[in-house]
Amino acid sequence: MNKSTRSMVIWWVVIAGIVVLGIYQLFNRRDPVYQLATSDFHQYIIDDPGVFDGYLTLDEEWIEGRFQENAVPDVQGDIWQKQNMAPQERDTHFPPNWKGEFRASRDPIDDYDIQAKLDEKGIRYNVEPPSKFPQGLLIFGTTIVPLLIFLGLMIFLSRQMQGSGNRALSFGKSRARLHSENQTKITFEDVAGVDEAKEALEEVIQFLKTPKKFERLGGRIPKGVLLMGPPGTGKTMLAKAVAGEADVPFYSISGSDFVEMFVGVGASRVRDLFELGKKNAPCIIFIDELDAVGRHRGAGIGGGHDEREQTLNQLLVEMQGFEDVLGVILIAATNRPDVLDPALLRPGRFDRQIVVDLPDVRGREAILKVHTKQPYKLAENVNLEILAKATPGFSGADLENMTNEAALLAARCDKENIDMMCFDEAKDRVLMGPERRSLVISDEERRVTAYHEAGHALMLHFVPESDPNYKCTIVPRGRALGVTAKLPLEERHNMSKKRLLAHIIFALGGRVAEEIIFGEQTTGAQNDFEQATALARRMVTQWGMSHMGPLTYGRRDEQVFLGKELSVHQDYSEKTAIEIDKAVHDIVTECYKKAWDILETNLEGLKLLADALLERETLVTEEIDEILGPRPQLPSKSIL
Ligand code: ADP
Ligand code: ZN
Repeated sequence: MNKSTRSMVIWWVVIAGIVVLGIYQLFNRRDPVYQLATSDFHQYIIDDPGVFDGYLTLDEEWIEGRFQENAVPDVQGDIWQKQNMAPQERDTHFPPNWKGEFRASRDPIDDYDIQAKLDEKGIRYNVEPPSKFPQGLLIFGTTIVPLLIFLGLMIFLSRQMQGSGNRALSFGKSRARLHSENQTKITFEDVAGVDEAKEALEEVIQFLKTPKKFERLGGRIPKGVLLMGPPGTGKTMLAKAVAGEADVPFYSISGSDFVEMFVGVGASRVRDLFELGKKNAPCIIFIDELDAVGRHRGAGIGGGHDEREQTLNQLLVEMQGFEDVLGVILIAATNRPDVLDPALLRPGRFDRQIVVDLPDVRGREAILKVHTKQPYKLAENVNLEILAKATPGFSGADLENMTNEAALLAARCDKENIDMMCFDEAKDRVLMGPERRSLVISDEERRVTAYHEAGHALMLHFVPESDPNYKCTIVPRGRALGVTAKLPLEERHNMSKKRLLAHIIFALGGRVAEEIIFGEQTTGAQNDFEQATALARRMVTQWGMSHMGPLTYGRRDEQVFLGKELSVHQDYSEKTAIEIDKAVHDIVTECYKKAWDILETNLEGLKLLADALLERETLVTEEIDEILGPRPQLPSKSIL
């Protein structure tokens, strides 16, 4: 018996036990009966045998009977008095609605020959057969059932503690939650900017449409497609679109749905899922968050991962036996391909792997086009190309969020249509949270912020290697008192050293302006410094851009799609560490000097810009260019 069936059996036994106990209780319900002491009963036999009405009933444990209505008891006079009491008073001493019934327990050790005594006194009696209820069941009901209930409770609690809390109540729903989503058909047209992925999926569509053709030629059809990419990049959409294009049903389930706290439920859901697929072929089965079940076996820390491993094993087994079923394609999505069990990626399983990465600038523009289609009404001045450029790092979901936010803003301002201002505001909201115009800021603080932001803007303007200005504002938003944003003219996947230095100079420009104008240092530059330092450190340790030579220092574990560094292992000596720190320091201070030089030579521009900011709060590219004059051009004006 494997684990999952065993656990199911335990559950059924518990339920059966409860039912048996209930029936037992039902059988043993009695009318209100007076509990007579055994010794009193004996006295009645000896002294007053006429007090009983009709037959006594004897079984192995009990004597049951009824007192005669008008008999006069003699030794135990109080019984009789009480039977003659007023009903209310009687109810407080005797069982409610007492009709004279009594029972007395027999003495199992010292039982005298009671039948002989009764015969002697002429009291009539019945002898009951041993038990109304099979003895075995009785013992089972009174001892084993509570034990099983207790055991079940233990399992239940321990599972609940391990698993995600509120799942506790979904027990018994052993069927996977599957939804067929045919209502709104999604096609490839709705998914933009992921052309490579679409191309790779084209084959799957062809196969779903004409499975026979593929079969005839004997090629091995992909059974599993794994979509890997950060959250919100349209993996679910792609899977739905494949179903839409091929016009087959789409069933989806999330990997986390498999991971339940009841042992065996996950595995049975996997079985159900594949059953369903086979029944409805051709179709698409989509498993979101595959990593929730598909994690490396034995990778868990501590115990309690049996259930997941069992589910994963079941998944692997089902996929293995899937070969001969025609027309069912499994698509899974994950943003942690690095933690997947390698067995999942073997031929015959998820052997087709497609990366769905964050969209590039062209992809973003395409996605924006899709999401601003009718019924959205766009103003003339909306330029999706610029918006796409201004939103590096946005996922498809972020962009959708942005367009939605823009539409809401336009409605809130009673605008005819959605204009560029709405989009701009929506973008900043998605990035940094809403504006905080209500934040009380002193005039002095506002002045410092204006010069700080003007300092940043000046760097973007006068360092030709950097990206140009996009917007500069002193309206507080999120945690920032002001923001200066740049507009990357083109998407870059490979940064030159000069561009990196330009960015560090840009980051330092704010603080330099404060120092030059006010001779003061404030805390507002913390984030700027963090950025500058982090970039400089990577230049030294990862990109070989310092006198430390073309080497990398430190081995790092990164999360593939989340871009977070999990840990860095120091693989160099302490002496090297000191040198690295010095190299980082040199880069940043060098840039600080450059920023200082630029501001010193353009003090007039800085003041004009800061004044304009104080007056207008927000300046865009054209306004900045107007104040500072045309932007210097490369190569003659390079300062790096
Ligand atoms: P994932 O499954 O990768 O987390 P989803 O497919 O659930 O992402 O996408 C979430 C939402 O983001 C979608 O409903 C869609 O509106 C939008 N979206 C994401 N990527 C795209 C894209 N490439 N084209 C159009 N819309 C997209
Ligand atoms: Zn700053």
